[in-house]
Amino acid sequence: MDRSLQEMIGHLKSFLEYLDEMGIETLPASGNPADPASCSLSAPSPRNLTLEEVRAELGDCRRCKLHQTRRNIVFGEGNPKARLMLIGEGPGFDEDIQGKPFVGKAGQLLTKILQAIHLQREEVYIANIIKCRPPQNRNPESDEIETCSPFLFKQIRAIRPQIICALGTFAAQTLLKTDAKITALRGRFYEREGIQLIPTFHPAFLLRNPDRKKEVWEDMKQITRWLLEHQDPYERGPEKS
Ligand code: URA
Repeated sequence: MDRSLQEMIGHLKSFLEYLDEMGIETLPASGNPADPASCSLSAPSPRNLTLEEVRAELGDCRRCKLHQTRRNIVFGEGNPKARLMLIGEGPGFDEDIQGKPFVGKAGQLLTKILQAIHLQREEVYIANIIKCRPPQNRNPESDEIETCSPFLFKQIRAIRPQIICALGTFAAQTLLKTDAKITALRGRFYEREGIQLIPTFHPAFLLRNPDRKKEVWEDMKQITRWLLEHQDPYERGPEKS
């Protein structure tokens, strides 16, 4: 047998003995890159794709039934280096026509909410759990979320935001992999693979229930506080002497 191969087997044997001594019986399996469903927020992959590469991979997507009724794919837009990423449910009527996320009435409210914490839309990145409008704005179905969300996870890995704000039930439940209600989930940070995730109410829900705006305001203040406390000193302006 080749000597280097013999050496390699020797090293492997002692490594396995070491694991055995430590009481470690199984090694974590890595995700299968051929299987998009194995993607998570920061699953190990040979290299994170850029947003342009994710968009190219998505192509003229026909992976689920929503392609039959959509007008435009709504990929997402904003700062590719955003510290804050906002994720909604899926495109509605206006978004489907314009091919941009959150441009209808709910989107206008989202823009105002961001402005209230001194952020412009161009500074953050906005996307959705699914990229095509469901007919009659029905809720996304589980097969559609399963097929589409791997592309969102790749966008998240391309941007590497510090905070994700999940807007509404579908975003919160999909990103946190839970069935819990948004009322129970909102208002606190969950750490997922190095990213702070904070769920809050969807702007469309606020349009129907304006009395719930104060809770969203509390959540937004938490986001502002976190961003200020974790500001990179090298990103600040020049020191004044
Ligand atoms: N609602 C969403 O969840 N996303 C949009 O882009 C628009 C409305």
